[in-house]
Amino acid sequence: MIKIESKKKEKEKGGPEEIEICFICHKKFNINADDDSYYRQGKYPLCAYCAEFYGFYR
Ligand SMILES: [Zn+2]
Repeated sequence: MIKIESKKKEKEKGGPEEIEICFICHKKFNINADDDSYYRQGKYPLCAYCAEFYGFYR
């Protein structure tokens, strides 16, 4: 089996991709992407969509 990974090079932060699973919607996303994704309370990965949707305080 061959894993095909999309190599997006849209907005590079310089760091490698770090795939996390959003603790709300369980979607895989790159926490290092230059978007609104971040670690909630420093440990719960939150994707950009949920970060915007729920408007959590950082
Ligand atoms: Zn999410």
